[in-house]
Amino acid sequence: MNTGTILRAGVVGHPVKHSRSPIIHGYWLEQFGINGRYDRYDVKPEDFSHFVKTLSEQGLQGVNVTIPHKEAAFLALDEATDRARRLKAANTLWFENGKLWGDNTDSIGFLANLDQGHPGWDINAKSALILGAGGAARAIIAGLQERNIEKITIVNRTRERAEELALMSGGQVAVAEWSKLSFQLESADLVVNTTSLGMSGQPDLDLSLDPLGKNALVTDIVYVPLETNLLKQARLRGNPVVDGLGMLLHQAVPGFEHWFGKRPVVTDELRYLVEDHITGIRA
Ligand code: NAP
Repeated sequence: MNTGTILRAGVVGHPVKHSRSPIIHGYWLEQFGINGRYDRYDVKPEDFSHFVKTLSEQGLQGVNVTIPHKEAAFLALDEATDRARRLKAANTLWFENGKLWGDNTDSIGFLANLDQGHPGWDINAKSALILGAGGAARAIIAGLQERNIEKITIVNRTRERAEELALMSGGQVAVAEWSKLSFQLESADLVVNTTSLGMSGQPDLDLSLDPLGKNALVTDIVYVPLETNLLKQARLRGNPVVDGLGMLLHQAVPGFEHWFGKRPVVTDELRYLVEDHITGIRA
């Protein structure tokens, strides 16, 4: 039986009530029998700086940070990992030797999800097509660069945003027109939807995959619904597919280890539990 202090962490965002992170960390806390809590904190942008400065007074070991605070979180750190410095955004904060540290684990989560869902995907992947140029795309491009994907092309509704991201990402990152998306499919070994299109409540991504090779891997980081229309279309034509839920699960691993001292594993049981929440089987 556990005695003593309750270890506490959580997720801070605005809004944050739909975050599934408490389900994930709650599951691991129970698995390890750790006397801990993981809660949601809805904090407005104007209150974020005060919230971070008082983390330890609030008894928190650290937090996950979600929209819209990831850039502000990076600016509030004492120390950042190379990855967070490169992305200028942090989603996982913890204390080490009295200093507030931050990392960006979205790229870790993205890569681990593909590694688990389609092992060896990066061996022959030379060319990646990224739809979208927001915060998630930034982290994913950094991840693909870590895996030495030779050619990365960004296509975004707002072209200037894609150009800014290409510039910031450095290396061999190209930009193509949203209206010419289908031409880009011909040479892609990996297609990643990082836009919010296809998410429940949003319009669908209106894209025919006809020009895409049958071996190209298609992944969508939207995970509500679990199978977006993009993934369904890809699956029905025989392409390998990986959905976005695993990215959410895997990005949570480093934070749990920092706050609660155990390295958790993303199991099928955890995935089914979160799936049940998404599909409404569990509230
Ligand atoms: P963001 O910074 O707001 O970026 C949104 C992106 O979607 C932008 O590229 C935007 O294009 C594009 N977009 C939005 N509406 C569009 C439309 N009607 N037509 C074409 N493009 C549109 O958001 P984010 O943080 O990158 O997140 C993007 C999505 O990924 C969200 O659905 C989020 O829930 C999901 N996500 C999943 C995970 C995971 O763990 N699986 C992690 C992070 C994010 P413009 O630049 O033209 O506005």
